[in-house]
Amino acid sequence: MDQPRRWTLRRKLLGVGITVVALGMAGLGMARKPLNPAPSPGQLLPGGAMVAWSPGYRVSFFGVERLHPFDSYKYDKIAAELQKKGLVPGDAFLIPDEAPAALLARVHDPAYLASLTDNERLSQVIEVPVPGIFGAKSIEARILAPFRRATGGTIAMARHALEHGVGINLGGGYHHARPDGGHGFCVYNDVAAAVLTLRDQGFEGRVLIIDTDAHQGDGNHAAFADDPSVYTLSFQQEKIFPQPRVPGDRDVELRSGTDDSAYLARLERELDAAFEADDIGLVIHVAGSDPLWNDPLASLGLTIDGLVKRDLMVMHAARDRSIPYLHLLAGGYGPSSAEGSAASIAAILREVAAPPR
Ligand SMILES: [Zn+2]
Repeated sequence: MDQPRRWTLRRKLLGVGITVVALGMAGLGMARKPLNPAPSPGQLLPGGAMVAWSPGYRVSFFGVERLHPFDSYKYDKIAAELQKKGLVPGDAFLIPDEAPAALLARVHDPAYLASLTDNERLSQVIEVPVPGIFGAKSIEARILAPFRRATGGTIAMARHALEHGVGINLGGGYHHARPDGGHGFCVYNDVAAAVLTLRDQGFEGRVLIIDTDAHQGDGNHAAFADDPSVYTLSFQQEKIFPQPRVPGDRDVELRSGTDDSAYLARLERELDAAFEADDIGLVIHVAGSDPLWNDPLASLGLTIDGLVKRDLMVMHAARDRSIPYLHLLAGGYGPSSAEGSAASIAAILREVAAPPR
């Protein structure tokens, strides 16, 4: 049997197995309902920051999502940690609405959007087999709506950053979603949706996307390939997903095992060059935690301390020049991913709340 046929058969067998498990879980009442809390405007935190998050970001389809290394509870864990540290009271999170369908139709090709309720196509996008028993309604509520809601969070925090200096979304950063198709667990391109919204509202400044996820932001590069008002600096591990690359404005390919000191020294140099343009109106940091040393989908060597320093370095590069800063979570699949992102965001919130340097 040739490879593609063998692969298809394996997927089908896996799909049958998952269907049995899912039906069993549903029958036993173990299936959690998708959460859909009402939107809430959130509260300003000291220094003007705001954090968007909703339990409705969680992709959940009867536990099948656990076949992907992405922890769908990561967002909730980070939100809980920020509350525990006393940095974001529970009622201070902005709970976003879903990104509107009309906006997403301007970001993505209609044929791609129409294909998302097809189980086979969606399985390729989110890298988890979506069994045939999940109909369009279930796919909408349990998979697509959470991605649209987190995209809404990115849009709201981009707006907030322009008005108050710092916006943080505990989700988003779906940088592999290209206009003509998503992959790598990225369905909608939230950054493109946010930039389009700001442009509609009259924002004319240059956008600087700094992508420090371990994987290249090919979706962002494709989305902004013909837009000279958006500049991308991408820090990624060489030779890993996605391949082939979609070139950005500045791609930095890092060797496996790159440690804190080598990473941070390189980042400092690259940031100095990226900030040379004098008309930057917004910095969008796609701050994946998968450069951590124990991530299963990459093999860079950052410690949690290095991750915190990375994020503070990018935040200060923007803030020291009085440029609004938007922070997005992006990838991160290892056992320290939630802890690392929570430590980073806590450090950012503390520094934003402190008197100016
Ligand atoms: Zn990644």
